[in-house]
Amino acid sequence: MGRVAFVTGGTRGIGGAVSRALKEAGYNVAANYAGNDDAAKAFKKDTKIPVFKWDVGDYQACEQGVIAVENEVGPIDILVNNAGISRDAMLQKMSHEQWSQVIRTNLDSVFNMTRPVINGMRERGFGRVISISSINGQKGQLGLTNYCAAKSGVIGFTRALALESARKGITVNAIAPGYVATDLLSGVSEDVMKAIVGQIPVGRLGEAEEVARCVVFLASDAASWITGSTLTINGGQHMD
Ligand code: NDP
Repeated sequence: MGRVAFVTGGTRGIGGAVSRALKEAGYNVAANYAGNDDAAKAFKKDTKIPVFKWDVGDYQACEQGVIAVENEVGPIDILVNNAGISRDAMLQKMSHEQWSQVIRTNLDSVFNMTRPVINGMRERGFGRVISISSINGQKGQLGLTNYCAAKSGVIGFTRALALESARKGITVNAIAPGYVATDLLSGVSEDVMKAIVGQIPVGRLGEAEEVARCVVFLASDAASWITGSTLTINGGQHMD
């Protein structure tokens, strides 16, 4: 097929599963990561997918990173904005650093990565921008004002850019997963995790591969009339 797909935070967790699934579907895949060199090295060895290290919260690093990826792999046709972090605290205890780290990594990153690729997609008349939001960007969650603000922001960005891109062969969509078993949840206590699973009608956490299959679908030609949407995948926990 020859299309190039680039996945931020694409070396482990949901992003790792997305990178693998896109490769399996025939795309030419490259993945970004922030600092976990061991995980990136193991991922590269296992998948043969090239990896690129930079902070997606840093605009200049993204501009330079995109140039490096496009020189090595080719123009980016499918951008998956997946990288994300959480820094949970009730607002009355939240530091400015916790707020800004999450906004920077989860929301600024979506601008930082999409801006350097959008003109190429417009010129070529094809593109897919798929951003990972969250159930908590749809419904809100205590202790997560920073994360909920960022993930709601991703949905607003998606809708606006979908309108701007609709006549250019570019679709722009978000995916809002519920709770998925990855390292992101490693700080959640056993009791809280039990309570979370109790709120999921399907009765279990999601798997990264289940989210990855949504990305593969939205990236495909079969999804060419879907744009500006948020695909909810959460085991029935929240219906939006
Ligand atoms: P993980 O913590 O398992 O993996 C995060 C990935 O993002 C890693 O590859 C990490 O790189 C990368 N990353 C983090 N910060 C940066 C940065 N500044 N620059 C570049 N890469 C970065 O997270 P998940 O797989 O669980 O989450 C993936 C996405 O899905 C996130 O956006 C998250 O908010 C969202 N999500 C997750 C849910 C869940 O329940 N797990 C539910 C809903 C949404 P490195 O390996 O170098 O650290």
